[in-house]
This record gives sequence, C-alpha cells and structure tokens, in this order.
Amino acid sequence: MTIKDFVKTRKEELKVEFAKFKSVSKFVIVQMNEDPASEAYIRGKLKDGSELGVNVELRKFPLDFSHENLLNEIDKLNKDDSVTGFIVQMPLPKQIDEESVKLAISPKKDVDGFHPLSKLNPCTPQGIMNYLDHEHIDLLGKNAVVIGRSNIVGKPMAKLLLSRSANVTVLHSKTSFADMHRYLENADIIVVAVGKKHLIDDKFKFKKDAVIIDVGINRDEDGLKGDCINNLPVKLQTPVPGGVGLLTRLALYENLLKICKGEN
Ligand code: NAD
Repeated sequence: MTIKDFVKTRKEELKVEFAKFKSVSKFVIVQMNEDPASEAYIRGKLKDGSELGVNVELRKFPLDFSHENLLNEIDKLNKDDSVTGFIVQMPLPKQIDEESVKLAISPKKDVDGFHPLSKLNPCTPQGIMNYLDHEHIDLLGKNAVVIGRSNIVGKPMAKLLLSRSANVTVLHSKTSFADMHRYLENADIIVVAVGKKHLIDDKFKFKKDAVIIDVGINRDEDGLKGDCINNLPVKLQTPVPGGVGLLTRLALYENLLKICKGEN
C-alpha cells in the first residue's frame, strides 16, 4: 500500500477514535518563528487536525519573546486542564535554549515525545515504525542501517529498531564513504536522515529486497528532494515528497490520541 493510502485509511480510524474524546482533545501548537518550512509544517498539522475533528489552536509569540516568557507560557499550558497536549514548533530564535524548552514541557502533554521521561516516541521514527509494521517488514535479526544521529530522528530511530531486535548500525558525518558502501550493501533496512540531496545514489549496491526509508527533505528550484535518488533497485523505497513527512504528521496525532487515552 502506498504511504498516501496508508495515511488516508489510518486517518479514518483516528477520526472515529478522536470523536470519543471531543471534550478533552484540545491540541495547542506554539509558534515562535517565521521559518517558511515551519509555516508549511504547521499548515499541514492544522489541516490534519481539522480532518480528524481535533480542536487545534495555534499560539504565536513574537520573535523577540524572552526565554523566561516562553517558559512561563509553557508552564501555563502544562497547568491548563483544557489543553490535552501541545508542541513547540522548532526552530526557535537564538535567545531561546531549545533543550530547556523540551525539558519544560510536561511529559504528560508532550505530543512530540521529546522529553526524556516521555513514554511517547518522537514522531518521525514512530511514524516510520508504524509504516514498517503495516508493511509487515521483518525486523528481528535483520541488518538495519540508520544514516544520521540527530536527537529527533537518527538516535531514536536506532533505539526503536534495536528494541525490535534488529542489528542496528548508525552511520554519520564521520563515516567514510567506503564504510558506508560496505554497510549499505549488507543492509535489509536503511533509514537515511541526513539532509543532503541525493547522497545515496546508484553508485551504492543494495540487497534486492532491501527497504529504504528516505527521511531527508531538501528544497531545490524544482521542489522537495530526498536524500536518495528515486527508483533505487530495492523492494521498497519511500518517496519524497509524499513519504516520511506524511508518516510524521500521522504519528503526531497518534501520540495525541495516546495522551487522550492516558497511555503516556
Ligand atoms: P540533523 O542536521 O540534525 O542531522 C543530520 C545527521 O546527518 C547528523 O547526525 C550528521 O552526522 C549526519 N550526516 C551529515 N552529513 C553526512 C554524510 N555525508 N554522511 C553521513 N551522515 C551525515 O538533521 P535531522 O533533524 O536529523 O534531519 C535530517 C533530514 O531529515 C533533514 O533533511 C530534515 O529536513 C529531514 N527531516 C524530515 C522529517 C520528515 O518528517 N520528513 C522530519 C525530521 C527531519
């Protein structure tokens, strides 16, 4: 099933689930940037919310808002019983310490799953796991290679794959090209989360039944491009656009639903 169809089907189910929690499902998005990519992500999240029947509120704060003021607003959201969950859209201006913002959000309301005590996982890796499961991709004892080691994608992705007993290797900016070739050649599942257009191309060899998950979003004059070229000779490769971005958006509302159900 394509990712678009998978997301569409799951959204129908989520809509039914959220209808049961109407009175509590208020979701707040905090925005403190004018970043065009963030604007696009927020538009997507608002659209999903209205399709799912979730009450989503966008709270915008000025770019020169102080760190203390933002933490006060987060504190208010933590204490406001009418708010089921919230996120603070990254990136934040220079005067704000993003890590302390992530720590200030109560794990009980942390829809992004960024807090170390949160029982929820960050949305991109969780969305990918949901899709791999839907496609019945076997992980146990399989060679999984994650390229990229960021706190929001690479590291939690590796942790989730490891929790499902895959043999996980994490590659990064200091990995030599020769080693990257060697690891990819033996990989069953490859997750590429780097942010370099077409880093992975047909110079690499793959197992013919490998699965490639392309997380990268790179903007050029023709639109969005992934970290991989299209049509690599593997069993399954996620497209960009129309791939992991949709899975991430879906996982955000899966996390919100878990909060509604008290499963966090
Ligand atoms: P990041 O910049 O925080 O991390 C990039 C990682 O890539 C680093 O760990 C670095 O070590 C590694 N890296 C850099 N150059 C490399 C190279 N030549 N070879 C191997 N590894 C290299 O980025 P991020 O936040 O993890 O995001 C990665 C990409 O995924 C970006 O394009 C971002 O826009 C995209 N992204 C997409 C979604 C989505 O929903 N589709 C969500 C999050 C991030």
